[in-house]
Amino acid sequence: MGSILLVEDDRTLGLSLRIALGTEGHAVTVATTLAEARAVTEARAFDLVLLDLGLPDGDGLDLCRELRDSGDHMPIIALTARTMLQDRVQGLEMGADDYVTKPFDLPELIARIAAQLRRMTWISPTTDKTAVGELTIDFRSGEAWCAGEPVALSALELRLMRYLLDHAGAVVTREQLLTDVWELPAKSKTRTIDTFVYRLRRLIEKDPARPVHLVSLRGAGYKMVTGGGV
Ligand code: CA
Repeated sequence: MGSILLVEDDRTLGLSLRIALGTEGHAVTVATTLAEARAVTEARAFDLVLLDLGLPDGDGLDLCRELRDSGDHMPIIALTARTMLQDRVQGLEMGADDYVTKPFDLPELIARIAAQLRRMTWISPTTDKTAVGELTIDFRSGEAWCAGEPVALSALELRLMRYLLDHAGAVVTREQLLTDVWELPAKSKTRTIDTFVYRLRRLIEKDPARPVHLVSLRGAGYKMVTGGGV
């Protein structure tokens, strides 16, 4: 049960989703344009955003990127008629957490919403701040600092950090990251992991070119080294 922002210009679909999600106990706010969505997200917080990508005044992915840039880390599920894997990957790189292609199966969408809301609980355990290298993360609030300066991590970046820290000292393969963090097929050909690792290294490492915490092991995967390395 959460507060959901539904950004969808198809009013019939918007209404039926609002009713269906309301029945599940969610409080649903509907925006039909990017401009409306920007206005409501500036005014208040939501637990989750359902985001149609084809909107009359622009691409939903722009909103996705803006929300992440402004430090919002609520889960975002993109809704789209596009079915190409490339679009899915692009959506994830822009900070969406999941992707549902239209026409979708309502029970499946409801299950995915529930999974994302549960995951928010998972990335917000009762542990306090965790520090690795230059980066400090408060998983409870989702706040992060690089060398003492506040930085914004997306839900996916937080999830990736949580996963790497939970497996600190062990080798984590790309396949593990794809299936456990991205929830993509293990054989997906994507550079999205490299993009995220590159971004995280710039926050964690004193010298991102010579990482000592988020280490690459050629042909094997990655390893998070929390101690030492200073
Ligand atoms: Ca649309």
